[in-house]
Amino acid sequence: MKQKAIVSLKNINVKFDGEVILNNISLDITDKEFITLLGPSGCGKTTTLRIIGGFLEPDSGDVLYDGKRINGTPPNKRNVNTVFQKYALFPHLNVFDNVAFGLKLKKLPKAEIKEKVKKMLSIVDLKGYEKRSVSKLSGGQQQRVAIARALVCDPEILLLDEPLGALDLKLRKDMQIELKAIQKMTNKTFVYVTHDQEEALTMSDRVCVMNNGKIEQIGSPIDIYNEPANAFVADFIGEANILNGYMLQDFKVNILGAEFKCVDKGFGDGQAVDVVIRPEDIVVTTPEEGILTGEVTGVVFKGVHYEMEVKTRGCVWLIHSTVASEVGATIGMYVSPDNIHIMNKMFSAAYNEFTAEVTYANEEENYVTVSIEGNDVDIKDTYYEKGTCLSIKLPPDGISIAGDGVGHMRDLYIESVIWKGEYNEIILESDERKWLMQSSQDEQVATYVPISFDFSKAIILPIEVREDEDEI
Ligand code: ATP
Repeated sequence: MKQKAIVSLKNINVKFDGEVILNNISLDITDKEFITLLGPSGCGKTTTLRIIGGFLEPDSGDVLYDGKRINGTPPNKRNVNTVFQKYALFPHLNVFDNVAFGLKLKKLPKAEIKEKVKKMLSIVDLKGYEKRSVSKLSGGQQQRVAIARALVCDPEILLLDEPLGALDLKLRKDMQIELKAIQKMTNKTFVYVTHDQEEALTMSDRVCVMNNGKIEQIGSPIDIYNEPANAFVADFIGEANILNGYMLQDFKVNILGAEFKCVDKGFGDGQAVDVVIRPEDIVVTTPEEGILTGEVTGVVFKGVHYEMEVKTRGCVWLIHSTVASEVGATIGMYVSPDNIHIMNKMFSAAYNEFTAEVTYANEEENYVTVSIEGNDVDIKDTYYEKGTCLSIKLPPDGISIAGDGVGHMRDLYIESVIWKGEYNEIILESDERKWLMQSSQDEQVATYVPISFDFSKAIILPIEVREDEDEI
C-alpha cells in the first residue's frame, strides 16, 4: 500500500544568478519517515530544505502539504520547524527558557509550558539541566537543546540541516543514534540534510541521493547500497569497484575480457554498461578457481578485514577479505552472480560528438578556427572552407583540464568523478551539453574547471548538406 505523503515537491526549479540550482525536483515525503537528502556540497540539498520550510519560493513547481498547494505560505504558517548546524541558542537564557521560547510566544499557560518543556527535555536526555546556562553546555548538549526547542512546539515536520556538522566524530555517532530514537519517540517526520553517506545510511528510513540539482535515486539505505541506480550513487555510497563492461546477453556480462554470470537482464546484447562490485563481495580463490586472476599489489589490515589492492589486466580492484594474501602473490577472484550489479552508463555515448562551424580558415598554415559554444577554438592540421559545418567525434582522452588555467572552454561544472580501476571517468557540464573526459588525476566534484581539447585524437568530417535537403 502506498503510504501517505505529508509533503510533496512537484517539478521544482530554482535558478540563482541564471544558474540552475534545482532541476525539476519531484519528491514525496511520507508521513513520519526519517528521510535524508544526501549529496556532495553544492548539489542543492539546503535549497530543497528551504523550499519545504518556506524560506525560499521556487521559480516554478508546486509544494504540497497534505495534498494542498502551499506555495507562498510563510514559514511560520507551515507546520514545520528547522534545526540548523549553527543552532543559534539564546546565550543569555538558561536551558528551560531556550526551550520554552516558542511556547511563550504562543502565550500558552505557564503550567502547560512547564509540562511540555519537562517532557521534551526528558526525551532529549537533558532532565535536570533546566537551570543551566546554555553557554556552559557541551556542543552535543547544546544541539539537544536546539532539537528540543524545535520539537516542543509540536511541528509535524522537523527539517535538520547538517545539525551534527560541528560535533566531533564520537559525539556525532552517539547523536546519530539519539536523533533516530528521538524521531521514533516523537513520531514526527524528519527531513535531514547531510553530505556524510554513513550518517545517512545509519539514520534514515529512506535516502534521497542528489547531484547537480537533480535527484539521482530515492530508496531505503539497503536498496541504495545494493541496487545503486548509476555509477554516481554507487561511488557516493560506500566503497565500490566500478568497472566498464558490456552485456554478452541476458545474465552474462564481459568484464576485462572475462565472462561473469549476473542476475541482470534487458540491457541488450553488446550494450556497454557500468558494473559495480562491492569489495566485500569478491571471493579470493586459488588462481585456477578464479574467473579472473590478479597480482596483489597492496595489503592493509583494517581490524575486521584486510583491504587488498589487486591488479588484473591493467585495472586495480579493491578487495576486502578476512584472509590476507602476500603482496606479489597471484590470486583468483570469484564473484557470485547476485553480487554483480549492472547499471546503465551515465554518459551513454563512447565519444563526445558535436558539430562546430568553421569561422576562420587559414589554408597556408593549414588550420581552422571553429566556434564551440561561443569559444573560438583552433584546430591544427585541418583545412575546410569558412562556413563549413564539421562533425567532431572526440574520445574521452581527447579532453583534459587546462594546465594553463585558461584552456579552450572555461567554467565547466564537474558533475561526477568515477574511478574505473585504471583512470577517472569524469562527466563535465557546459552551458549546452555534457562532456565525457578520462583523466589519471583526481578532480573535485561540484567545482568549475577550464578544459582543453586534443583534436589530434578526434575524427573530424564535414557535414555535407545535400541539395534536396535544402529544398525540403
Ligand atoms: P552544502 O552541503 O555545501 O551546504 P548544498 O547541497 O546544501 O551544499 P545548497 O546550499 O543548496 O547546496 O546550494 C546549491 C548551490 O546554490 C550552490 O552552488 C550555492 O553556492 C548556490 N546558492 C545557494 N544559495 C544561493 C543564493 N542565495 N544566491 C546564489 N547562489 C546560491
